[in-house]
Amino acid sequence: MDSNYTVLARKYRSQDFKSLIGQDVLVKTLTTAINTGRIAHAYIFTGIRGTGKTSTARILAKALNCLSSDGPTANPCGVCENCRAIAAGQHIDVMEIDAASHTGVDNMREILDASQYRPTNGRYKVYIIDEVHMLSASAFNALLKTLEEPPAHVIFILATTEIRKVPVTILSRCQRFDLVRVPVETLKKHFAWIAAQEKIELSDAANELLARAADGSVRDGLSLLDQAIAQTGGHVDEKSVLEMLKRADRGVVVNFMETLLSGDTAAALAKVDEIYNNGADLSMLLTDMMEWTHWATRMHPAIHAGDVTNLPYTADQREQIKKINTRVSLNTLSRIWQVMVAAVPEMQASGNQKQCFDMLVVRLMHIADMPSVPEILKKQASETATHSASVQAPTPQVSAQKIENANDLANALQSSKEILLYSYYTSNIEVLDVSDGTLKYFDRRGDAEFAHKLATWLNEKTGHAWTLERVTESPHAHTITEQKKEELESDPLVADAMSLFADAQIVGIK
Ligand SMILES: [Zn+2]
Repeated sequence: MDSNYTVLARKYRSQDFKSLIGQDVLVKTLTTAINTGRIAHAYIFTGIRGTGKTSTARILAKALNCLSSDGPTANPCGVCENCRAIAAGQHIDVMEIDAASHTGVDNMREILDASQYRPTNGRYKVYIIDEVHMLSASAFNALLKTLEEPPAHVIFILATTEIRKVPVTILSRCQRFDLVRVPVETLKKHFAWIAAQEKIELSDAANELLARAADGSVRDGLSLLDQAIAQTGGHVDEKSVLEMLKRADRGVVVNFMETLLSGDTAAALAKVDEIYNNGADLSMLLTDMMEWTHWATRMHPAIHAGDVTNLPYTADQREQIKKINTRVSLNTLSRIWQVMVAAVPEMQASGNQKQCFDMLVVRLMHIADMPSVPEILKKQASETATHSASVQAPTPQVSAQKIENANDLANALQSSKEILLYSYYTSNIEVLDVSDGTLKYFDRRGDAEFAHKLATWLNEKTGHAWTLERVTESPHAHTITEQKKEELESDPLVADAMSLFADAQIVGIK
């Protein structure tokens, strides 16, 4: 890499509202507000890293101070003295403060004292405070005093990845904008465009892998692309990206699934060794297997109807999936899925991923060749004429918006494929109450990130704000998993079915 190389995220940083990636709602709201002259004194931008918080803050600073019009404009020109200085981070009236390194109250007082003086070159003095949740309590207090009576020429733009840690008193004085995770398709389009600008080859499969790995963050995706370009000299294909991400390619994953479902334990474990020794990350492999299982489930009806053209695999792989899928029932797929979901937190908590994965494989093989409860019941029913068993229809999925009790929430998380949240919630959370957008609960594990992620998801999912109230004393209630297991074990039909197998245990509940 030559020494003048500018990282892509910096080189292609959005310079105006039009070019902000994947934040349509924010752009629309903000531009309308500026065009109609409704300028707030304080804004707060929140969202995961790399979604454009700082970029948006700079664009807003330009919009407020651009010289191309008489007042603030939603279309800053980008070429006037003010626009250029702000883009370069050198405007005298636009201060960018990293709260992580200015946490103290003295720092904050100094900054706030200076805010009393009128701007030198711009219309407004703009204070961009990044990672604002890092401020100390006394620094927040000093900031609050200024926010209560802000000088007319001062605008605060706060940015944070952890909105929960920002005091409510501050929040209530800010206009809040949530930057969303950027969708895979939007990221792909953006990366393809950049690849064309940079004159590098980026295959569609490689692009897809990068966009998925970015997990909604433009910056993370671009730094992966930087890395891929550096490693391949500008010919970025699927193989090189798989290697970089430590993932096994799809052919290997499908092959492994085939072995797994064939019932040959020794062969399956040997394959795990092989994949592991080739440098693949086993938790990534689990993610890929889950993706495969999801697709196999989604396409099960189509496969049986003979139409597999929609599968995102090569023709060869589609043939393979078809072959496997005709051997496996939907029921088995769903049980396999459940065991995999339960294994995600296990893999994370385990100090030895390889051991954990080997055990998972054995469990999955056991499921693949074990008859399902309805199958056993059917068999029993035909054997004993007196025993008429009815097989319960699957519970319909609760509509995603209606979350009124602990089970609704579990179902909604599951149907939204929020695997990590779902498994954490069902195995660690004791719910006390769910009502009117409030969830009162006790968290056995106490992961600080959980509440934040769940609240963000709930807000997005239901379209209204949720309050998460975490109690510190356990009510000694059951988690969803414990609850379901108990219900199932106390069902006489299931107890009957389980007695047929000496070592039967409930490993997953669908
Ligand atoms: Zn301008």
